[in-house]
Amino acid sequence: MDEFKAVIVGELDRWQRAGKVARFWLRDDDAIEPTEPLDRLLEISAAFAVPLTLAVIPAHTGEALADRLRREPLCSVAVHGWSHRNHAGPDEKKQELGRHRPVADVLAELKQGFDQLFALYGAQFVPMLIPPWNRIDAALLPQLAGLGYRALSVYGPERPAALPLINTHVDVMDWQGTRGGRDPQALAVEIAARLRLMFDHGGTMGLLTHHLVHDAAVWDFMKALFMVTADHPACHWAAVPDILREQQAPAG
Ligand SMILES: [Zn+2]
Repeated sequence: MDEFKAVIVGELDRWQRAGKVARFWLRDDDAIEPTEPLDRLLEISAAFAVPLTLAVIPAHTGEALADRLRREPLCSVAVHGWSHRNHAGPDEKKQELGRHRPVADVLAELKQGFDQLFALYGAQFVPMLIPPWNRIDAALLPQLAGLGYRALSVYGPERPAALPLINTHVDVMDWQGTRGGRDPQALAVEIAARLRLMFDHGGTMGLLTHHLVHDAAVWDFMKALFMVTADHPACHWAAVPDILREQQAPAG
């Protein structure tokens, strides 16, 4: 773990010397109901005062999760599609919000998801769409503002889009291989690379997690990362509502 620490702290120290602060944010996907892994996620993030944005699946959730999260002031909730159902064919990448159905049907679901989670969460709700599998048909994007969405979050570098993007950049899971946590050293190298890019071009360092499938390696990684970053003067774990507000403030 020492090498892991050196890679991240080395980069943050450079930020500190330059008088800059790197903004990190935490997104965790696929919440539906209170579970033991969710408790663990909330505990770890709260212990380090790291704000958390949960991608909640509207069609499958309800009061139980909202009641649980009401006690978590650092937790905000965003819309994770509608039902997280794959409408793509067997030879395609999985997608709920693709071109497989009429646009009006998809938009009607996205409006229902927005309205339902807003009603459940009120002030904890953030008007951000997180497409399942991080995929959405570009033709839908210009319509989202009309439904109330103010931001979109997918995976990878931000590209110009019809809606402000608050993306994730580092995924802790090894989806193609072990389906467990990735090597901490590889994750540290990726985080440092993202920080180098941000140093010159701005942006945030979005960490993507999936509490329901974490193995011990992921929980250990998260704890270690929070341990080395949360108190570092050149790191700020930001809440998405704050990032959104700043993005929408006029430049100057
Ligand atoms: Zn998902």
